Amino acid sequence: MTGTSPGTVYLVGAGPGDPELLTLKAARLLGAADVVLHDDLVPPAILGHAASAIVINVGKRCGRKNISQEQIDAMMVDYARRGLSVVRLKSGDPLVFGRAGEEMDALRAAGIPFEVVPGITAAFAAAAALRRPLTDRRTASSISFSSGHHAPGSSLEPASLAGATRVVYMPGRDLSSTAAQLRREGLPADLPCVVVSRAAQPDQQIVRTTLAQLDGIAPLPAPSILLAGEAMREAQADALAELTDFALHQAEEQPYPSAL
Ligand code: SAH
Repeated sequence: MTGTSPGTVYLVGAGPGDPELLTLKAARLLGAADVVLHDDLVPPAILGHAASAIVINVGKRCGRKNISQEQIDAMMVDYARRGLSVVRLKSGDPLVFGRAGEEMDALRAAGIPFEVVPGITAAFAAAAALRRPLTDRRTASSISFSSGHHAPGSSLEPASLAGATRVVYMPGRDLSSTAAQLRREGLPADLPCVVVSRAAQPDQQIVRTTLAQLDGIAPLPAPSILLAGEAMREAQADALAELTDFALHQAEEQPYPSAL
């Protein structure tokens, strides 16, 4: 090891699961990596970019059930100290509910160079699946990303979020505690709520409901994400569809110049 300068660790977002939603940079780094340490939610088609790397699942579900965060940190540091190029591949964006803060602290403490490569977070994939805007100047002027799972000691009190689109990651299988939390915040019973299961994947499912009925929906395949807010209201979607039809009709009547 003496004389070997450490390799770089890349904290890379794999996006929501559709291989086409991987960034070109992520694909290039995977292709050049010596070691890939990935989470459970990253599909094989994306791992396929890592043609010449040792690929290790460090996910806690189907991978290594007992692997601790400290062990993952130690693996990244150890491989980098051997001069290897390490990709730490996380679903979605690496800086959203991905424990990247702890991993970057460990890399800083060990003096390992690292870089972060953003990815498409689940909230964006879910909104795209729904064809609903996360912000809308008529109904939603802010977005809140929160987690249905709270680390011990973390605050359960959100800021006042009237007029926000609420996106809840890890909303829980039965949604009842997430629903209760949103009700405690004083959000209205008829607030549109949508659960998107496996967004941007071939078996994606969408269930639309209201806050009052959120805890009554049947569990959906993991991973799933909850979007709640006026911007998710369906009637508006219908109105927008009409507008789109109108715009298309207008375009037909006034075609672009043929040179285009
Ligand atoms: N870093 C990831 C989030 C990791 S936390 C990101 O930016 O997306 C894991 C949670 O993300 C899951 O419990 C689920 O709530 C959400 N999630 C990840 N991928 C998803 C997908 N394809 N569809 C729906 N939710 C997803």
